Amino acid sequence: MPPPLERLAAFASPVPGPVAEPRPENGEPLSLSFYQVDDYLTCPQKYKFNHILRVPVSPHHSIIYGAALHRAVQEFHKRHAHGEVMTEGELIASFESAWSSEGFLNRDHESARLEAGRTALRRFRAEQLEPGAVIPAYVERDFAFTLDGDRIRGRWDRVDVEPGEGPAEAAVQPSPDGFQPDVVEPTLALLPRERVTITDYKSSDVRDPDRARQRARESLQLTIYAMGWQAMTGRLPDAVQLNFLESGLVGRAGVDDKRLARGRAQIQLAATGIRARDFKPKPDLVACSYCPFRAICPASLAR
Ligand code: SF4
Repeated sequence: MPPPLERLAAFASPVPGPVAEPRPENGEPLSLSFYQVDDYLTCPQKYKFNHILRVPVSPHHSIIYGAALHRAVQEFHKRHAHGEVMTEGELIASFESAWSSEGFLNRDHESARLEAGRTALRRFRAEQLEPGAVIPAYVERDFAFTLDGDRIRGRWDRVDVEPGEGPAEAAVQPSPDGFQPDVVEPTLALLPRERVTITDYKSSDVRDPDRARQRARESLQLTIYAMGWQAMTGRLPDAVQLNFLESGLVGRAGVDDKRLARGRAQIQLAATGIRARDFKPKPDLVACSYCPFRAICPASLAR
């Protein structure tokens, strides 16, 4: 599970939107995003504040920063897919137009974050224009699948589909004994030998390559993205990765049955608790320190 600060700065969806309250009756299907599962696993009380009571929270500067970076990256990719290359000025203007001054500690802090974003975007743009760089096949693409009767939904930041070299059979065969979504909806066309990489952009500052790889290996968010790809194409992606925009580091990992089983168990744990309306707080000093509800939560360890 990502650390709370990075969860606050979660980048796949700038600000997770409101969701329908889970139905109370046992057996009724839930509709869950990664953010809901992650909130529940972090602390069921946090899930309740956020997704059932929908307690409004003040914007956090890391959310503002991540959302503005995300907007600029998304616009770059979408225009690039249509043969347009945004100039540096256009890219930074896109970032600044999505900016809001809320949540920053002071003017100097805000200026420093603005400059960090501009620097990150200049490097991002240069990387996208390097010879051999891949133009993504999908950007900000919604997906959904059912798992144990519940609907799991999300949105891929970026999916790259490249010509592959391996045997067609190996590329298209899902593992016979491993994880399979309950319902496969092969709604995306895919040729047998294509290599697929799903990327999630992160605005959190990771500068250690080992740490970046570990984050990719352990990310439930990426596991859910892989499950979604399998549900919509009938096969797993070849790799999933986190792209840390501030450092330019990419943490890459594979997807195997062990990972899928672990992800499935995590989703089941959250779904079972939500369905049972078990919202007992799970206070933890680090989690509470970054929890936006710490000021109103009676169980908080960080008020
Ligand atoms: S403050 Fe701590 S115990 Fe309360 S909801 Fe947040 S994480 Fe849970």
